[in-house]
Amino acid sequence: MIGVLCMCSKHLGQHFLINPYVAKREIEYAMIEPDDIVLEVGPGKGFLTRLLAEKAKQVYAIELDEHLITYLDKVLPDNVRVIHADAVTFDFSKIEQFTKVVSNLPFQISSPFTFKLLDLTFKRAVLIYQKEFALRMIASPGSIHYSRLSVGVYYRSRCKIREVIPKSCFHPRPLVDSAMVELIPHKTPPFIVKDEQFFFDVTRLLFNHRRKKIRTILSNYYTVDVSDIIYGDSRVEMLSAEQIGEVSDIVLERLQRS
Ligand code: SAM
Repeated sequence: MIGVLCMCSKHLGQHFLINPYVAKREIEYAMIEPDDIVLEVGPGKGFLTRLLAEKAKQVYAIELDEHLITYLDKVLPDNVRVIHADAVTFDFSKIEQFTKVVSNLPFQISSPFTFKLLDLTFKRAVLIYQKEFALRMIASPGSIHYSRLSVGVYYRSRCKIREVIPKSCFHPRPLVDSAMVELIPHKTPPFIVKDEQFFFDVTRLLFNHRRKKIRTILSNYYTVDVSDIIYGDSRVEMLSAEQIGEVSDIVLERLQRS
């Protein structure tokens, strides 16, 4: 078992947290209560999982690496259920409704897992990401980090970087620093759009062509007239989420009328 535990797969983003103070603060930011049901993605060797289990009612730990599953099952307490699965494709309706999400995420699933998480219900998430990714999550229009992710995160949640975590806190050491991010889902979105899915589709389309003008992108893609579209001469990187919402509502209205 020691042999298994010493192996680290780069492909699975296995940079294990080795700093107990960082782990302790991550759990503090998550404000775990005795009745909380916690989801942890990628428990690894169970460093964070043990601390979570001490505070929460139940922990669901989703781990992709089958070599770690038997070990985790042996060493973790009874209120942890280890599930061998890919967190990106896992059907979360198969487990109890969780209230908190705490994870040192494998970097290669940061984007798909975060978009998936934004569609789920929970009270608070505290997640460790690569710093660059965290900057994209909180970026504003005009910033080089502003992206489809920034818009989705802003629409769904209050997001803040709690702290930057140096590479030295992990083993093996990653190439870049990380950041601990807190996400608290909005009860209601910060603005209203006519159709959320359409808004997300338009956001994706515009950021796929971030250097082109809004009017050009929309006219190449949709069959309705957008020659007079609001913010038509702008590029998406300068538009706030609210302004993208205005654009998507107008296009949708025209499509519905056509
Ligand atoms: N939580 C541990 C810690 O903080 O030391 C390990 C974190 S390590 C950055 C990421 C973990 O996620 C690894 O154990 C890796 O095997 C697991 N993992 C990678 N891809 C995964 C996926 N798609 N679904 C679930 N777990 C995954």
